[in-house]
Amino acid sequence: MTSFDTQLFVIGGGSGGVRAARIAASLGAHVTIAESFRYGGTCVIRGCVPKKLLVYASHYAQEFRDAAGFGWSVPPATFSWPKLIAAMDAEIGKLSAMYEKNLLNSGVQVLQGAARVIDAHTVEVNDQRIRTEHILVATGGTPFLPALPGIEHAITSNEVFNLPEQPRRVLIVGGGYIAVEFAGIFHGLGSEVTLAYRGEQILRGFDDDLRAHLHDEMAQNGVRILLHSEVTQIEKSGDGSLQVGLRSGSEGTATQHSFDTVLYATGRLPNTQGMGLAEAGVALDKTGGIIVDAYGHSNVPSIHAVGDVTNRIALTPVAIREGAALAQTLFGTAPTTADLTTVPSAVFSQPQIGTVGLTEAQALQAVPQIDIYRTNFRALGRGLAGGKERTLVKLIVDSASQRVLGAHMVGDDAAEIIQSLAVAIRMGATKADFDATVALHPTSAEEFVTLKDKTTRSRSDQASA
Ligand code: NDP
Repeated sequence: MTSFDTQLFVIGGGSGGVRAARIAASLGAHVTIAESFRYGGTCVIRGCVPKKLLVYASHYAQEFRDAAGFGWSVPPATFSWPKLIAAMDAEIGKLSAMYEKNLLNSGVQVLQGAARVIDAHTVEVNDQRIRTEHILVATGGTPFLPALPGIEHAITSNEVFNLPEQPRRVLIVGGGYIAVEFAGIFHGLGSEVTLAYRGEQILRGFDDDLRAHLHDEMAQNGVRILLHSEVTQIEKSGDGSLQVGLRSGSEGTATQHSFDTVLYATGRLPNTQGMGLAEAGVALDKTGGIIVDAYGHSNVPSIHAVGDVTNRIALTPVAIREGAALAQTLFGTAPTTADLTTVPSAVFSQPQIGTVGLTEAQALQAVPQIDIYRTNFRALGRGLAGGKERTLVKLIVDSASQRVLGAHMVGDDAAEIIQSLAVAIRMGATKADFDATVALHPTSAEEFVTLKDKTTRSRSDQASA
């Protein structure tokens, strides 16, 4: 390290950066990390963690309602948004402090400040220039807001966790993860929720059965979902409410609506602006994402990137894997890549989605013919609760090899169930392996090992249809 102040300078203290820093330090490297906001990054500070806490909070309304069916008399419940937010903030504060402490305990030099790349081996932070053998950019992403009149009145997932009070009427724009998750949260907490999506069905990219099932369940719960709808402008009225113009349907019908809060969840962009990357010769894609190879190396040999800033799979566990692999590559014994062949994912919508492997459409691209097994049922306990919610379970199997290519679920505990199934699917389990597994009764998960009704679809049917 003769001519360098440090061996690895990590920019960004989120999931990927922190994991890379700690593993590199454990491998004996001199590591420095800088974070401009709070250690923990998007996931801990304004993403997965606070979102899941809000999801928990919003479930209580239904629990109170369901309780009556099980013989409980529950006095009218009241809810305090400020109390919830204060409790959530305290929890996040603890987690953030833990991230910083873990870095220090691992021997990482921890800095607070926005870092900028000066050249391939120099970083500037708090007016100090640091010479480093390697630079790891792990700065994550930031919400994207389309340009339209009055967009400055909208909030994003950055602000939603700090609203001083719960909005009574919320418009959520977008049909992806964040949009459907916050639709469930605000609806559960008692707000009147409208979700406006520009396409023909929410959650583009997910299996079509899941998308339709979630849509139906959300709509039945009382979330107003407007498809083929785009916001044309937002105006703030004298009373503070937001007047929103919407253009909907194939006719482009214009309507005007009033809301207290407009939350945009229209995707995220890599956080690379003003960081000196292009000037240092780092190749960026058209969204600003750092182009890297399977190891996380950019085109500049000493500059690397992991996580959302690379504009690939924007999921925390993926960033963590990429960070660990990069540290191993740089300071371990062998070049290592993150194995991302079977990445499960969950949408903490209400009801929840869990999914792993291929969708029906993707499976038909991958193999000539597939067997589809699906069931749709009312989970035990829902009857007593008087609920109409239905659970969807679906398996997609390669007809030739009988390998399970995808497992999908919408319903209670879908994320927990799919996490375990991901192990089996990654190991190459066949439908016969699922069938040979004894059911765990009574659960919703057992449906995955008792699926009988099969539909077969082949690529050639599709082509001729
Ligand atoms: P997504 O990419 O999931 O969804 C963006 C949505 O916004 C899509 O429905 C998209 O429509 C729509 N959209 C994009 N541009 C516009 C526009 N100009 N006008 C109107 N609508 C638009 O992004 P999110 O913001 O929901 O989440 C960002 C990422 O964060 C996710 O992709 C995911 O990787 C991660 N995340 C993961 C979670 C989890 O694991 N549970 C939870 C939250 C986030 P269209 O489909 O037509 O493109």
